[in-house]
Amino acid sequence: MAISLRLAYLVFETRKPARWDRFMREMLGLPAPAVHPDGSTGWRVDGACQRLVVVPGTRDDLLALGLECGDAAQLQQLLERLRAAGHRPLQADAALCRQRGVRALWSLHDPAQGLVELCWGLEQAATPFASAAFPDGFETGALGLGHVVLVSHDLPAMEAFYGELLGFGVTERLDTRVGPVHMRGTFLHCNRRHHSLALFDLPASQRIHHFMLQARATRDVGRAFERAEALGVPLALELGQHPDPDGTFSFYGDTPSGFAFEIGAQTREIDPAQWRTMHTQQTSAWGHRPRLRLKLRMAGELLKARLRRTRRQPARGAAL
Ligand code: FE
Repeated sequence: MAISLRLAYLVFETRKPARWDRFMREMLGLPAPAVHPDGSTGWRVDGACQRLVVVPGTRDDLLALGLECGDAAQLQQLLERLRAAGHRPLQADAALCRQRGVRALWSLHDPAQGLVELCWGLEQAATPFASAAFPDGFETGALGLGHVVLVSHDLPAMEAFYGELLGFGVTERLDTRVGPVHMRGTFLHCNRRHHSLALFDLPASQRIHHFMLQARATRDVGRAFERAEALGVPLALELGQHPDPDGTFSFYGDTPSGFAFEIGAQTREIDPAQWRTMHTQQTSAWGHRPRLRLKLRMAGELLKARLRRTRRQPARGAAL
């Protein structure tokens, strides 16, 4: 039996819940969230009861990514595969399932110690999704929630986990330079979406690089770009288009937690059954010009990474 997977939800931890609340309402134009007993908020982007969860905490980063299996039997099959490989997934209690809005939930850590939640039965809301900012809504359904890009300093280990164990296929491998930064990346698919998950090896201290929401209407991407400028939301990359076979027209800005969000449209689908891994050195066909703020942050992260490396290496002659 084939296991079908899709990105179900993302959980963010933040020290700035009030700023996230404003960002979700004003920048993303999402309707009022469900408020959970622990103070976390669950935001809708489609018919599901929630897709983006914001948890007040002591860090600003991704707390968990949720992957949804087609049904209970597929989830069991996936769990057996993980156990056979030595993983020990933990079953969530009823309270956590309710909080995540799923029928069943098991969690485990990826090789970068990121929390992965495997679930099935994403709860649907009683009312249709409606947003004045995105009147045509977002592309989700069988493709799942947009995509998430994780920072990874051990691409082979992460690829083995998400690829060989969870069953993602490699859509494209990226090897490029962005200014002074050498960047390698792997784009992974688990359905017809070009990538639901990508792994970027680049200097960064957060676990997540960005998440993407795919608007159905190109117009809504342009309107979101104008809204970002009007609201003073820091932009990272201006409007542009990823090369084929992805083809996404998008822009990137900063969330209140510092990692980026991407709003895009026109993403092309792939046929996973026929797909052969492609290699690319290009992240954009046109546009996506970096703003000064992003260039400065990349330079800062590069410097921090070099300092970390220097501290790990003993000074020359120290061991004599
Ligand atoms: Fe992206």
